[in-house]
Amino acid sequence: MSGEYGLSFKRRHLLGIEGLQPFEIADLLDRADGYVEQSRRTDKKLSTLRGLTQVNLFFENSTRTRTSFELAGKRLGADVVNMSVQGSSIKKGETLIDTAMTLNAMHPDVLVVRHQDSGAVELLARHVRCAVINAGDGSHEHPTQALLDALTIRRRKGRIEGLTVAICGDVLHSRVARSNLHLLLTMGARVRLVGPPTLLPASMRAFGADLFFDMRKGLEGVDIVMMLRLQLERMQGSYVPSTREYFSLFGLTRDKLAHAKPDALIMHPGPMNRGVEIDGVVADDIDRSAILDQVEMGVAVRMACLDILTEPLREAA
Ligand code: ASP
Repeated sequence: MSGEYGLSFKRRHLLGIEGLQPFEIADLLDRADGYVEQSRRTDKKLSTLRGLTQVNLFFENSTRTRTSFELAGKRLGADVVNMSVQGSSIKKGETLIDTAMTLNAMHPDVLVVRHQDSGAVELLARHVRCAVINAGDGSHEHPTQALLDALTIRRRKGRIEGLTVAICGDVLHSRVARSNLHLLLTMGARVRLVGPPTLLPASMRAFGADLFFDMRKGLEGVDIVMMLRLQLERMQGSYVPSTREYFSLFGLTRDKLAHAKPDALIMHPGPMNRGVEIDGVVADDIDRSAILDQVEMGVAVRMACLDILTEPLREAA
């Protein structure tokens, strides 16, 4: 399959979900679906990207996203190199452009970039000659997370359109929330944003989401409960009185979950703060929690993105 209208994804980079058409999202998800099965085989390796070089350039800490991209590239047969530049005093602007020039000289074919500043990945993409995938930039976007969440939902619920999804917690600092908001609304889901007023900007209403400052009301009748990590590292000043009070008001517990549909799915992008935004018992509930499915879908979605973005190169070769 290639997209719901037989059209396919034809962009040079994947920098965000905002602006993607439903057929482009469907194309990526359809292709990822096939890679789920591939990843379950004993022999996981394909030669689709043989001869191509993938550089994972991470200016910010990451375990699961970097590993997931590395596995995805290797399963497709690419040469994968990890460059970790966190902790160095890299500034935006010239230094980032210098990095781009250096990379150009090494002739990578795909660059996977994570950066602590919103917009930095796009800036880099303007100065490199290869395809760029945004692996998370500041609080702006994390497109492959939204795609893997969508694939998880589509496989567990059979559709995205018409579902009601509650995205709960630290929306203000979350690139996961932004990318998911764009994707879910584009694909015809209803989105509720749930959290304390300090972490839930009223401007989010403009995107077409409903805002809830009361967790129980926000979860009433929803199909999907998507929890967000409290991003303490991005907070300057105090947004929550204490993590204990936050847990009592906005932590996902069994009693709060009882307000959602009986078969509502629990999701979390990881890493989880157990006892802060989610009760460990709920996170580990094998009937309701899709958290490990999300990790599995992550590799498949990243294989699909690498495959689609390098297609023009392979066709030209
Ligand atoms: N891993 C996700 C991200 O990089 C979510 C999180 O860190 O809370 O944005």
